[in-house]
Amino acid sequence: MVSGDSGVTRVVVVGAGIAGLAAAHHLADRPGVGVTVCESGPKVGGKVRTEDFAGVTLDLGPDAFLARRPEAVTLCRELGLVGELVPPATSSAFVWARGRLRRLPEGLVLGVPVRWGALARSRVLSPSGLARATIEPVLPGRKLGADEALGAVVRRRLGDQVHRTLVDPLVGGINAGDTDRLSIDMTAPVLAAAARGRRSLVRGAREVSAPGADRGGPAFLTLPGGLSRLVEVLVARLEASGVEVRTGAAVAAVERPDEGGYRLRMVSGALVEADAVIVAAPAYGAAPLLAPHAPTAAEALAGIEYASVALVAMAYPAPALPRRLDGSGFLVARGEGRLMSACSWASSKWAHLDPGDQVVLRVSAGRAGDARVESLDDDALVTRLSLELGLALGIGVPPSEVRVTRWARAFPQYAPGHLGRVAATEAELHRRLPGLALAGAALAGVGIPACIASGRRAADRVLASREDALRPTR
Ligand SMILES: Cc1cc2nc3c(=O)[nH]c(=O)nc-3n(C[C@H](O)[C@H](O)[C@H](O)COP(=O)(O)OP(=O)(O)OC[C@H]3O[C@@H](n4cnc5c(N)ncnc54)[C@H](O)[C@@H]3O)c2cc1C
Repeated sequence: MVSGDSGVTRVVVVGAGIAGLAAAHHLADRPGVGVTVCESGPKVGGKVRTEDFAGVTLDLGPDAFLARRPEAVTLCRELGLVGELVPPATSSAFVWARGRLRRLPEGLVLGVPVRWGALARSRVLSPSGLARATIEPVLPGRKLGADEALGAVVRRRLGDQVHRTLVDPLVGGINAGDTDRLSIDMTAPVLAAAARGRRSLVRGAREVSAPGADRGGPAFLTLPGGLSRLVEVLVARLEASGVEVRTGAAVAAVERPDEGGYRLRMVSGALVEADAVIVAAPAYGAAPLLAPHAPTAAEALAGIEYASVALVAMAYPAPALPRRLDGSGFLVARGEGRLMSACSWASSKWAHLDPGDQVVLRVSAGRAGDARVESLDDDALVTRLSLELGLALGIGVPPSEVRVTRWARAFPQYAPGHLGRVAATEAELHRRLPGLALAGAALAGVGIPACIASGRRAADRVLASREDALRPTR
């Protein structure tokens, strides 16, 4: 990697989602590094989007992040936001299974039950499903070897019902995916470690969930102003550090001029010179940029499937609900045949979203293997979801306010072997495109902390190749 005439290493970040912004943040203020972020859309933040809805400030993409991983909390601390973080008002949740809402039992590790008493009392499984699950610790079998589909591992050990009613709604819900096609290593590393440490998945999961096994504190946190506040404060900090953040700046091609470095050809026709590039776009957006230089890596990225979802915000007058919403919401088991995949009771889940006189719901629809949502227009989607809410919660009136947000190709689907393919892709890029690194949800996880981690890692890679380039050759 070379540096420009000024001696400054010019890094261009493609994509201003949380991963790209985290990468820029990690590079900002480094002596001798100049950073430009190019975002194709009219706004920064990517999937992070907060809007005013029904009198509250509502997240229409992610509404919280995992607090038991350090990256998002650390970023909030660096930005002076940590004092604003709040946990959910409740951690209790339901699943729509076997025909009605059932409260999820305590003692689940990504849906794998580790407390038989709580599981039995919850009646979330039928008696035969419960009986099948409880023989797991004495079932013969081998420890987990290579990566596998999460669904296959869970069904083999605990039976169909635990898979269908607990693990698939939870882990499939997080990823808008089908756990029969999702890698256990990627989507449930805790369960993968449990299944590698012991023959019994339940015993292994019990160990990782034992008191003291985690750092305590709330599992999730958010910002009462919505997660866009994180993005706004982050961008303000970047700009104060001299980082240029451009919107409406779609990168059409990454070129390698003879004189070295990179040249980014914008859709507008403008050219941006760079010494290093971080591509923090979704995999299907990154692939064409890399294809001329690293075809195998581009093919691997293009091969990552994505699921499209719709997030439908709905407000109801509080008296329209026949039952008190005493939890954070419910997940929907795939076999129920519903269009909705989850319903977050936003005004019960978050104290700051409870205006008292109304109820705000965030209803999710669409997941891998279920593309019905894409064929419905907004009116049909809302009608269908309202009907399902009537069945689940007994609501008999239409919502007083609705907002449909469509997230096309939003959730990467991590097929078994994903981590190996990512490692091979990054190795090819390292060989062929020194000074170019990837970031974003497609690589190492859909959650905001994982995306921040991927951005920081990409920034570190770029800095390392700069060090290599500056090192005197003998
Ligand atoms: C409805 C929904 C709910 C979610 N809930 C949660 C949650 O509660 N907690 C959680 O942790 N995660 C959640 N997620 C997942 C999380 O929001 C995403 O995985 C994460 O925000 C992705 O960040 P990213 O930076 O990788 O990608 P993105 O946010 O997709 O950003 C990529 C950016 O690159 C830009 N781009 C693409 N191509 C180009 C180009 N050629 N030139 C310039 N720019 C380009 C795009 O416009 C986009 O802004 C949710 C996601 C959705 C959709």
